[in-house]
Amino acid sequence: MKYDVLIIGSGPGGYVTAIRASQLGFKTAVVEKENLGGICLNWGCIPTKALLKSAQVYDYLKHVDEYGLKAEAIDKDFEAVIKRSRGVAEGMSKGVQFLMKKNKIDIIDGFGKVKAGKKVDVTDKDGKVTEYSADHIIIATGARSRELPSLPQDGKKVIGYREAMSLPKQPKSMIVVGSGAIGVEFAHFYNSMGTDVTVVEFMPTIVPVEDKDVSKQMERSFKKAGIKVMTSSSVESVDTSGDGVKATVKTKKGEEVLEADIVLSAVGIKTNIENIGLEDVGIITDRDKILVNDWYQTNIPGYYAIGDVTPGPALAHVASAEGITCVEKIAGLHTEAIDYGNIPGCTYATPEIASVGLTEEQAKEKGYELKVGKFPFSASGKAKAAGTPDGFVKVIFDAKYGEWLGCHMIGAGVTDMIAEAVLGRKLETTGHEVLKAIHPHPTMSEAVMEAVADAYDEVIHL
Ligand SMILES: Cc1cc2nc3c(=O)[nH]c(=O)nc-3n(C[C@H](O)[C@H](O)[C@H](O)COP(=O)(O)OP(=O)(O)OC[C@H]3O[C@@H](n4cnc5c(N)ncnc54)[C@H](O)[C@@H]3O)c2cc1C
Repeated sequence: MKYDVLIIGSGPGGYVTAIRASQLGFKTAVVEKENLGGICLNWGCIPTKALLKSAQVYDYLKHVDEYGLKAEAIDKDFEAVIKRSRGVAEGMSKGVQFLMKKNKIDIIDGFGKVKAGKKVDVTDKDGKVTEYSADHIIIATGARSRELPSLPQDGKKVIGYREAMSLPKQPKSMIVVGSGAIGVEFAHFYNSMGTDVTVVEFMPTIVPVEDKDVSKQMERSFKKAGIKVMTSSSVESVDTSGDGVKATVKTKKGEEVLEADIVLSAVGIKTNIENIGLEDVGIITDRDKILVNDWYQTNIPGYYAIGDVTPGPALAHVASAEGITCVEKIAGLHTEAIDYGNIPGCTYATPEIASVGLTEEQAKEKGYELKVGKFPFSASGKAKAAGTPDGFVKVIFDAKYGEWLGCHMIGAGVTDMIAEAVLGRKLETTGHEVLKAIHPHPTMSEAVMEAVADAYDEVIHL
């Protein structure tokens, strides 16, 4: 069977690429070994947000008296919370199935392996192998939870993100190793549900890729919520022989043994590049990633790679954008290469974090003279009315030309606010233009305008 475009993997990279390819008139197929929608829809972005919504509703209920309301016998049903999240994921996967049908994209069930001569072998669940060929083969096989040698995952007491979102029973205590987005989202979820949570982070701050002010605020908020935070610390070994887990943690002050029911390893991802034929075809990889150019072509003509298997941020919106760029280039459109300096990153714990561009530290290292503005949500009428005054918006501008270098937010709903900064930066806006763009009152988004005003010494509400 012959296709114009054949994609291996149906995550937000693969399925979005397939739809765009079909829109562009290509005869398209997607090979998938598991569920349509990949990690994002089945085991990542979406089911975690469903869990976090349950946590948020539960947190509101626990503090209902702060809103002048009364509720009695508030409780949670952990199994039902997990069930709801799995149901949301299942529904999203079915949605992708509908989109594939609507766009006349063939779905090929099985494990895909690239071969020389622009061919792909697909092994189905019964072991039957079928050969397909295509003018353009796109590898979008994504990634899985990374295992550290000191923290081997047994799926029961030492778990990865898949188990963390489908546990049959709520653990009484949990050690979360790693405080990137995945680690802090689960730490917040389990803490809200009533699990005793300790976060262990190797770097000196939690959410270490964020601006230092954001990391500090997150640590304050976590501690206020009752989450224990250990920074500059690493888990050296785990002992799972008893009822729970004993983790030996190396800290600045020496070694400490922590005990918990479960350890969640959230130390990053490992790409799915094994046994998919890369070596047979001669496709070059480096440090666990498939190397590609600006148009996602590998070193072998006719073979492309997008999403988590390639270098760059492992995010769903990046995977989708890369796939669209890749097929638009194949179609001969004058498409733009992706600007990796303008990709928003979001963390959906409480408080939420959203950022784009350079941190203050990075901007200084690059030699810019800066204008920095900050507006706390404690001074925002909307945040006060909503009962969510924690956090701030911080903006960083180049003092000389007014370029918007970075925007960093922490607080309620900021993941929906960061798009303003992404668009502003894309349109090369200046601080004065943001100031003259009237923001609605009362909204959390006013904090962006006020933070910019602060950078230019024109802030009103501080
Ligand atoms: C817990 C968690 C939360 C996350 N939250 C967010 C978030 O909020 N926002 C965000 O942007 N990102 C988030 N991510 C990251 C996001 O899920 C990934 O960046 C995204 O899914 C990558 O998309 P992809 O298409 O490259 O790969 P994937 O989504 O990993 O999809 C790859 C697909 O390929 C299939 N496959 C693999 N090998 C083969 C083969 N040989 N043959 C056939 N099929 C194959 C797999 O079964 C899978 O379905 C989260 C990740 C996790 C783990």
